[in-house]
Amino acid sequence: MKLSDFRTVVNEMRTVELVHVQDETPTVKSFTFKDTLCARAEPGQFVMIWIPGVDEVPMSLSAMQPDIRLAMITAESVGQATKALHRMKDGDLIGVRGPYGSSYRTSKVREAMIIGGGTGLASLAPLAERLVKNRAIVTVFLGAKTRRDLLFLERVSLLLCKGNGQVTATTEDGSYGLKGLVTEHAEKTLNKGGKPDMTYVCGPEQMMFKMFLLSEKLKVPFQASLERFMRCAIGLCGTCVVGKYRVCRDGPVFSGSQLREVKEEFGHFRRGFDGRRMAF
Ligand SMILES: Cc1cc2nc3c(=O)[nH]c(=O)nc-3n(C[C@H](O)[C@H](O)[C@H](O)COP(=O)(O)OP(=O)(O)OC[C@H]3O[C@@H](n4cnc5c(N)ncnc54)[C@H](O)[C@@H]3O)c2cc1C
Repeated sequence: MKLSDFRTVVNEMRTVELVHVQDETPTVKSFTFKDTLCARAEPGQFVMIWIPGVDEVPMSLSAMQPDIRLAMITAESVGQATKALHRMKDGDLIGVRGPYGSSYRTSKVREAMIIGGGTGLASLAPLAERLVKNRAIVTVFLGAKTRRDLLFLERVSLLLCKGNGQVTATTEDGSYGLKGLVTEHAEKTLNKGGKPDMTYVCGPEQMMFKMFLLSEKLKVPFQASLERFMRCAIGLCGTCVVGKYRVCRDGPVFSGSQLREVKEEFGHFRRGFDGRRMAF
């Protein structure tokens, strides 16, 4: 297949059947479907999910199994589209375009720190699996408001007891693991001098910005996956711009040096659907 044919297929909306719908937390569900292109995606890439008659929204791929052509997304119920998605059952049909965007870079990383908040774990869990496969030492900080909201704790814990690494869970109310914000505990570990080859972050933007500033101060290499309103996902509409970058084409995964170039916007502003800048 020529590269141009491959791009056409990626951009084509494919109708897929939900093979399995699974509760993860009280507000988050995972949806598994069969699609060869998504099953071959790299950790960090995302897809556009069409919920028939409602809307089309961007979602990270949270698991890929190329051998059996299965892929998974993990969505929090926040608004119209994701609420409709949560009402769907095994056997229902959705539309899928993609996979799109950049992936987490893992080559030459021997010691990694992963910091995830909320549904950020959707894209970070396949990353942790890739790093373990690459035989890297992996430390995961996994944060949520309460014990019930911790996403993929079991999946990551099982992975790291097979591989070389450890997971630290944090909750804001102290109902599980360490009490407080995940960034506070990650910061303590970094300040103690444990300097990984790479820190990977995905979660609320303020949290990612905090970790970005810390990595700048400590000179630790950094990657983060950004979320923005997104319509086309192919670089045309401009809804997802952050400074000179488009999150859909240049991201969603950005390096620390790229984020340094757009630090007036990253952590401070995003664009609404009318293109106007809005403060976080
Ligand atoms: C690359 C990328 C990957 C994503 N991966 C995931 C994922 O794995 N799991 C997941 O649950 N969510 C993910 N999101 C966010 C998800 O796309 C939004 O939550 C979704 O579009 C909300 O649609 P809605 O109609 O349900 O809510 P709406 O009614 O549109 O909005 C509800 C709330 O969500 C906010 N919101 C809406 N769209 C976005 C958006 N694109 N980015 C940030 N905030 C938004 C709104 O400001 C509002 O506060 C991702 C977003 C991007 C850009």
